[in-house]
Amino acid sequence: MPPNASIVLLILQANIKRGKRVSTAKAFLTKDVIARDNLDIVLNARVTKLLLKGQRVTGVKFSRAGKVNLAYTRSEVILSAGAIATPQILMLSGIGSPDHLNAHGIPVRVPLWGVGNNMQSHVGVGEVIYTLKAPVAYNPVRLALNPGNYLTYLFNGDGPLSSVSGFEALGNIRTGLASANTSWPDIAINLIALHINTDGGAIYRNSVNMKPSYFNRNFNDLKLREGFTLLPSVLHPYSRGTIRLKSRNPFEPPLINANYFDDDRDVETVLQGIKKCLAIGDSPKLKKFGARLHRKPNPLCITYGQFGSDSYWRCVIRHFSYTLYHDVGTCKMGPDSDPEAVVDSRLKVYGLDNLRIGKS
Ligand SMILES: Cc1cc2nc3c(=O)[nH]c(=O)nc-3n(C[C@H](O)[C@H](O)[C@H](O)COP(=O)(O)OP(=O)(O)OC[C@H]3O[C@@H](n4cnc5c(N)ncnc54)[C@H](O)[C@@H]3O)c2cc1C
Repeated sequence: MPPNASIVLLILQANIKRGKRVSTAKAFLTKDVIARDNLDIVLNARVTKLLLKGQRVTGVKFSRAGKVNLAYTRSEVILSAGAIATPQILMLSGIGSPDHLNAHGIPVRVPLWGVGNNMQSHVGVGEVIYTLKAPVAYNPVRLALNPGNYLTYLFNGDGPLSSVSGFEALGNIRTGLASANTSWPDIAINLIALHINTDGGAIYRNSVNMKPSYFNRNFNDLKLREGFTLLPSVLHPYSRGTIRLKSRNPFEPPLINANYFDDDRDVETVLQGIKKCLAIGDSPKLKKFGARLHRKPNPLCITYGQFGSDSYWRCVIRHFSYTLYHDVGTCKMGPDSDPEAVVDSRLKVYGLDNLRIGKS
């Protein structure tokens, strides 16, 4: 994108039915699908292990209501437990790095060094905040005081309460730092029509797991004020995290090391994204609602440079890092020659005849 090109944010697309977001289950497990003879859905079941015989997966072991169950297959198993639990189940089954499995006393069935490596996500910074004069933000307190909003939502599935939690607009853009060989954007900018203290600390602070001390020090002056956040996040991060077993107990959550911003190039990309955000926030389109950048300096970062300097923002990026929970990559897809690859391009796990990974 040339330096003076305009930046376009579009209204966010989401799967919504009658004002509510639709989960994968709601969208795909429709009545006729549930009624199929060849489908059994077992609720509240926890897979603890894959059953292996040589190079074949013969089934899964799962726990339900305190009982251990076994389910067998004559064909394939598709393991689709998300980016965190999928590598955990593989490792508990003896599929993973021999060193790590040996450390937990788990017999190695298939040595695959990449299981649980390569974790990546869309992460950015949540501190590019604008206040507004006009009451146009997704201010839950103001919206809740208007009974008309509930009625519109209940009867029509419409109105401000049907918003995607205030995530109003999105633009995928190029900062200019990405390789010239690709036309992919390297930053997503989300316009969230609220900020960290719009609700006076009731919900949002907890949902981003922010310590009260950080919250009070930096955002107390924003309490219940109208405003919005421009959130730049990396689309193709260089940093890589890991999932490791904490123990061989399948009910113990694994160790998650997201390792965000381990690679400085991710910080530099978000820094360029912040500059694009400032151009958006200061644009006439938003100025007409009285948009003003929240300029209270973060005391932890002001020692690195004055408010708005590159070194100041680099520090802020590392303090109010904001993940969008789009974690992927922990069962890496790659060619046979890649020692870190876990699945091939057909999602089949290397070293086994009949196991595929769904996403992750
Ligand atoms: C707060 C939040 C907001 C998000 N917002 C968006 C968004 O706006 N847009 C977007 O595109 N993406 C969003 N994402 C990301 C999106 O939800 C994930 O990318 C997507 O759900 C991943 O799909 P998956 O099938 O790999 O894993 P999941 O959806 O996590 O599915 C894994 C399933 O496996 C089950 N499971 C795990 N372990 C076991 C076990 N041992 N036994 C049995 N079952 C097990 C889990 O219960 C779960 O149902 C968001 C994520 C979060 C957390």
